[in-house]
Amino acid sequence: MIPFTASPCQSDDDEFVENSLWQRELARAIKDPLELLATVKVSADKIPGGIDLQQTFPLRVPHNYAARMQTGDPADPLLLQVLPRQLESAIQPGFLRDPVDDTAAIARPGLLHKYHGRVLLITTGACPIHCRYCFRRHFPYAKNRPGDRQWAAASEYIATHPEITEVILSGGDPLSLNTKRLSDISNALHHIPHLRRLRIHTRMPIVLPERIDNDFLRWLSGLPWQSVLITHCNHANELGHDVQHALNKLRHIGVTLLNQAVLLKDVNDSVNAQCALSESLFASGVLPYYLHLLDRVQGAEHFDVSETTAISLMDEVRQQLPGFLVPQLVREIAGEPYKTPIQHLT
Ligand SMILES: *Cc1c(COP(=O)(O)O)cnc(C)c1O
Ligand code: SF4
Repeated sequence: MIPFTASPCQSDDDEFVENSLWQRELARAIKDPLELLATVKVSADKIPGGIDLQQTFPLRVPHNYAARMQTGDPADPLLLQVLPRQLESAIQPGFLRDPVDDTAAIARPGLLHKYHGRVLLITTGACPIHCRYCFRRHFPYAKNRPGDRQWAAASEYIATHPEITEVILSGGDPLSLNTKRLSDISNALHHIPHLRRLRIHTRMPIVLPERIDNDFLRWLSGLPWQSVLITHCNHANELGHDVQHALNKLRHIGVTLLNQAVLLKDVNDSVNAQCALSESLFASGVLPYYLHLLDRVQGAEHFDVSETTAISLMDEVRQQLPGFLVPQLVREIAGEPYKTPIQHLT
């Protein structure tokens, strides 16, 4: 996610004040770029593009994730995903504040209905990590985060649309909410007979695997629907031992695990990086789902990989891997009825 101004970000911290292990880890997440650089033993003048201490979209990264960065490497693919750099202030033509036109899909506060048969709930604006390329960094979360009692309107909308069979919990990161609040949301959906699936879009098992605790597993395994959890992992180095352990626990309660990644220049735009990612995901029980071309959001231009480059990269990946380990290369195009596959014209 998330906003450029400081005040909405401070309200995000509401989610992070309680006292289980994962909440304490979130509360002590690294927020100072210089502290992060000290942790990974990289000096600021080595960073490609220079670091930005202005923090318009502030740094946030849990210690657990920072520990998976290679010390001494200013080009570490995990570091580059989170470190604010001066490159971000360049204004590029064609890079917009709402590139995927989410505001046009708001059917009820907090509910986006863009595609047939499924709706997406913006459950929170908060995230455990701030990804520099995030396409939601300018989304008006404050206005689209229903309070505890407002899920009734979203739930009524779903109930009156029998073609909706799947609800997606998204954000921000829905697992920033504590499990009690997640169960308030699922309780508001219980009575809807046509719901078959609950899908969760979350980076939490990857960045803060402590979040997959017994309380959460109990909630998830008690739901009346099939559940699908879509992780967001961009690089094989993100899949540490405790991440794999958390993913295993999810698999053992019958959750279908898929991954979406974003194709990012200098992070994962090589055949080796993509193959290693798919192999490591599968070894952790996760199938690759989407590889997104970057949404053209202001401030993220330096991560952009062109369509031509992406297509030939994926051609090479396809020559290395079984078909089920090749994610679909897609781009979200405003107004299109699905995420658009990007491939050679034949
Ligand atoms: C991406 C997205 C979905 C899910 O699309 P799938 O192709 O089913 O993964 C649903 N709603 C919105 C608003 C989305 O942006
Ligand atoms: S976890 Fe997802 S929503 Fe949150 S900052 Fe990263 S890309 Fe954005």
